Amino acid sequence: MSRIKDILFTLKRYNYKRPFCIAYGFVTETENIEIEIITESGVSGYGESAPSFRISGETTEMLLALQPKIREMILNKDVKNYRLIFDITDRLISSPSLKAGVQFAVIDAFCKEGGIGVWEFFGGVKDEIETDRTVSVRPVEERINEALEIYREGFRVIKIKVGENLEEDLVVICEVYSKTRGCRYIVDVNGNYTPKEAVYFVKRLYSSGVDISVFEQPVNRYDIEGLKYVRFNSPFPVCADESVKTRYDALRLIKEEAVDMFNIKLMKSGISDAIAIVELAKTANIRLMIGCVSESSLGINQSVQLACGIGCFDFCDLDSHLMLEEDSFRGTFKQVGSKMIVE
Ligand SMILES: [Mg+2]
Repeated sequence: MSRIKDILFTLKRYNYKRPFCIAYGFVTETENIEIEIITESGVSGYGESAPSFRISGETTEMLLALQPKIREMILNKDVKNYRLIFDITDRLISSPSLKAGVQFAVIDAFCKEGGIGVWEFFGGVKDEIETDRTVSVRPVEERINEALEIYREGFRVIKIKVGENLEEDLVVICEVYSKTRGCRYIVDVNGNYTPKEAVYFVKRLYSSGVDISVFEQPVNRYDIEGLKYVRFNSPFPVCADESVKTRYDALRLIKEEAVDMFNIKLMKSGISDAIAIVELAKTANIRLMIGCVSESSLGINQSVQLACGIGCFDFCDLDSHLMLEEDSFRGTFKQVGSKMIVE
């Protein structure tokens, strides 16, 4: 029997191995919520919510307060009817990371009941993906050294956070590019340039002979015109991150021809909208990346299973668990250097 008999929320705290900095400030610790869905037959499905106040305005206090509401919404529902549970939990419009954790826990329980891997449930396209690692916003020398360290560890996709000081950002990227050949580079502004600054920035990179694979969220999330301006004036693919949270955001960006790529994050969209955005993107010939917020290995596992199962992500930015101190590894994938392998 696979009806949901209990739903448990557990608050978890993790320290970052070292402070993680982007254009809006820095973090040293994170609070996530572990979600356990228990079925009548005693199977437990697990999910994780890693709320981001900056991205979605969520806090753990808010999400914990929603526990009775979640029980009211899905208790006694059958995990086999997961699509019905997706439709019900789509009402969690202001708590997308909770929607993600609950929806994944339901799928996890469903797959355990049926004896299949979650990545197989999602489509079973690939059994392996490769993640990047991220260089956060710090003084120039520290950022270059961090990138070299990532390169020496064997990662061949390097993500560089920029957006605080354009001239310093140019120095960092040119230096990293010259010292780490053979890599692919994702440059993430987190919305902190103006459209004109963004175009000036990529033109300077291009004329310096630097080739980047993704220019992520160059301008403010609500500036769709600005994104489009950058897209049509950038030699590099422009990717929406903060601008694309729901399937409706994706539809609008497609209609406006504003970007070349979407960065899908389960914590922004939940499982249901992530899948919808994938299908919209494939239809509109938009390329895809999958990213993370501050998930532990339990939460990153959700994105690894989806990314392997669906198999259509050109870039995987799934490194938050590598930045956190954890007592034990909770994923059902194997991390071998930059590779993430499901079985
Ligand atoms: Mg981003």
